[in-house]
Amino acid sequence: MPTSQSHEVVIVGGGAAGIATAASMLKRRPSLDIAIIEPSEVHAYQPGWTMVGGGVFEPEVTVRPMSRVMPKGVDWIKAAAASFQPENNQVTLQDGSTIRYELLIVAPGIRLAWEKIAGLEETLGKNGVTSNYRYDLAPYTWQLVQQLRKGRAIFTQPPMPIKCAGAPQKAMYLSCDHWLQRGVLGDIEVEFRNAGGVLFGVADYVPALMEYVEKYHIGLKLGSNLVAVDGPAQKATFKTEAGEVMCDFDMLHVVPPQVAPQFLADSPLAAESGFVDVDQHTLQHVRYPNVFGLGDAGSMPNAKTAAAARKQAPVVAVNALRQLDCKGPTAGYDGYGSCPLTVERGKIVLAEFGYGGKLMPSFPTWLIDGTKAQRLSWMLKADALPWIYWNGMLKGREWLAGPGNMIAH
Ligand code: FAD
Repeated sequence: MPTSQSHEVVIVGGGAAGIATAASMLKRRPSLDIAIIEPSEVHAYQPGWTMVGGGVFEPEVTVRPMSRVMPKGVDWIKAAAASFQPENNQVTLQDGSTIRYELLIVAPGIRLAWEKIAGLEETLGKNGVTSNYRYDLAPYTWQLVQQLRKGRAIFTQPPMPIKCAGAPQKAMYLSCDHWLQRGVLGDIEVEFRNAGGVLFGVADYVPALMEYVEKYHIGLKLGSNLVAVDGPAQKATFKTEAGEVMCDFDMLHVVPPQVAPQFLADSPLAAESGFVDVDQHTLQHVRYPNVFGLGDAGSMPNAKTAAAARKQAPVVAVNALRQLDCKGPTAGYDGYGSCPLTVERGKIVLAEFGYGGKLMPSFPTWLIDGTKAQRLSWMLKADALPWIYWNGMLKGREWLAGPGNMIAH
């Protein structure tokens, strides 16, 4: 039975970005009336899935019941948003219910478009076809890695944008490291087939990564885009400049193409890309001032990561509260994103950069030099960052994430 209700602030999406923003707003104004529209019973720490696929984390440590991460005082509307009517300050849910708001925050993430690769969906989780991009499949990656003794392992990367652009490589390096330790790497032909034209988008990190490409004898195939998979025959088809190529595989780690959620792309809030059309510094919508957007669903040209959402949430909290008070934005987001590239078990190349590929290290280089593989960075990823996520970011404690000042633009 469709109903209608209204709240001061409505947030669409209770993922990393939505929960962090609600928590940051409530820290600043505890009396605020916030509702979060979120259909999932489970909240996932997706950066942990790389570690599950590498046999480092148990899958269970990467998820918590949604009820446990909802900030105290938030109204959780357990449903999916279906459309936006910004002219009427209203969101409509899938069951036809309507939610009115004074201020809207849009954070439903990015959609994994598995269906864009012919034959993929029906073979995921069997025939040696896996992906760390799904909670239920990451353990299968680790199973395949342990079983493989010889043959060909292919790791794919689709065209941008994707969340965590380093994750396709992380899966590969951790697998190679295991095969090297087991003494079987010499019998396994490893290929990295990337639709893009470079190994990693920020050049400063490429030399450190190339050392590992060479160490593991990885065949680097750039401009090679996965378009079809025949699971039972273990054949993958790639589109390249020279035409289509079909490759046999024993293990195939797929990263799916990724697009804006359809209900957002179809709405008046969308930019041409389908993502929510916001100013890249203030994160305020370019046409509807009482709408903000952040996280993977945002139109900003930053690296789509939880680390980016950690920095964006306080910026939205500050600017959205000012909007409620009829004042202009004062906080600015500098494009920070981070990608800890797990090049071997125990070492990481810690890529941290902002708009335009500007390096933005969180630590002095004598402590952590992000352009080199380092042990301390591994400890950060394996121990500190999950803890900071659950106990800092999702609780409105803005460690390593204070709202930046307004940036001239
Ligand atoms: P999400 O966390 O995906 O949350 C979106 C939420 O919106 C979900 O809860 C979903 O249920 C909800 N939703 C969807 N549709 C609707 C709807 N119609 N109505 C209401 N709610 C809806 N980031 C890093 O910083 N470091 C890493 O090392 C890293 N590694 C990664 C490795 C992998 C394998 C993956 C998959 C991701 C990785 N990331 C990493 C990326 C990071 O997880 C995302 O960037 C981050 O989760 C984005 O937060 P978000 O809130 O925008 O989206």
